[in-house]
Amino acid sequence: MSRFFSKKYEALTPYTPGEQPGGRAFVKLNTNESPFPPSKKAMEEAAKASERLQLYPDPTCKRLTEKMAEVLGVTPDKVLMTNGSDEILNFAFMAFCDKEHPAAFADITYGFYQVFAELNGVPYEQIPLNGDFTLPIEKFLRLPHTLFIANPNAPTGLAISLSDIERLLQSNPDRVVVIDEAYVDFGGQSAVGLTEKYDNLLVTGTFSKSRSMAGARLGYGVACPALINDLNTIKYSTNPYNVNAMTAAAGYGMLLDEEYTRANCKRIIATRARVKEALEGLGFVVIPSLTNFLFAKREGLSGMDYYLKLKEKGVLVRHFETERLKDFNRITIGSEGEMDVFLKATEEILKESEGVLL
Ligand code: PMP
Repeated sequence: MSRFFSKKYEALTPYTPGEQPGGRAFVKLNTNESPFPPSKKAMEEAAKASERLQLYPDPTCKRLTEKMAEVLGVTPDKVLMTNGSDEILNFAFMAFCDKEHPAAFADITYGFYQVFAELNGVPYEQIPLNGDFTLPIEKFLRLPHTLFIANPNAPTGLAISLSDIERLLQSNPDRVVVIDEAYVDFGGQSAVGLTEKYDNLLVTGTFSKSRSMAGARLGYGVACPALINDLNTIKYSTNPYNVNAMTAAAGYGMLLDEEYTRANCKRIIATRARVKEALEGLGFVVIPSLTNFLFAKREGLSGMDYYLKLKEKGVLVRHFETERLKDFNRITIGSEGEMDVFLKATEEILKESEGVLL
């Protein structure tokens, strides 16, 4: 830390992104990316946009916003496109949280919520998940806080129902509820439709998972026009050109090919079922997942050991070191072939581990 760094950030612990290894070619199952490339239409649109990079992008992202609204079945004034969904989540902390409106989120959830709260000087409460990692809805119902809920949750993969989301929205109409749907396309139910009925709901989404565009950084939010206006105030006060021209074009191309996205999600869901069954056959406990990853542990095999042994064999998964999570690893669902490599490596590790023989 230099002597110039502002005191207000002194205690900030930044988010730790998953490893992005250079050099050795890993089977990369650690950051929940899609194993499939973006649609050809996305690449074509991005290439066209690259010919006009001397110009600033359209700050309103008009063409993309209108297409996104059409795909989601809402009006364009209810949609804001952002630089990844991380950006709209940060905007939400800036717009809807302060000392009078602290934030609340689960103790086990997307790590960036805590970082954004700290960054913005927002007081926050972390509500412990139940022993089986389900969300204690009753505890959230009573809170006056702005709520941040990943649905499905990460890294557990578990979801709450739309009726529980409605209970949260109704129980206190004077607080904003943010539902982070980064993984919703892998079997979850979207709350976007509820934005027609509730003016205190913000739903966020991303192109990083089901839409194969993690490298381009594109996310979005859906809410009533008044909330979108507030978020736009933050956007135009930080970076009006938050979505670059090539990303906006690629996103538009991606949305022209929803069939491709749906087919990829179907493949991931089928592979997820196969891998879950195979892991259970090998003695693992696997949390039922509605996402593109599995959260799994095995008695007799420490989470850290399993992570390190997989890494030695060229397979990267995500390990968390906190007390409640340290037995587990989060395994992204890759292509069929990648998951075969992963399962073979797992079998070898079990065979090699004395006392945990198959
Ligand atoms: N929400 C959740 C729950 C996530 O896991 C992620 C991905 N790390 C994000 C939001 C952010 O995704 P992105 O910024 O790539 O859209």
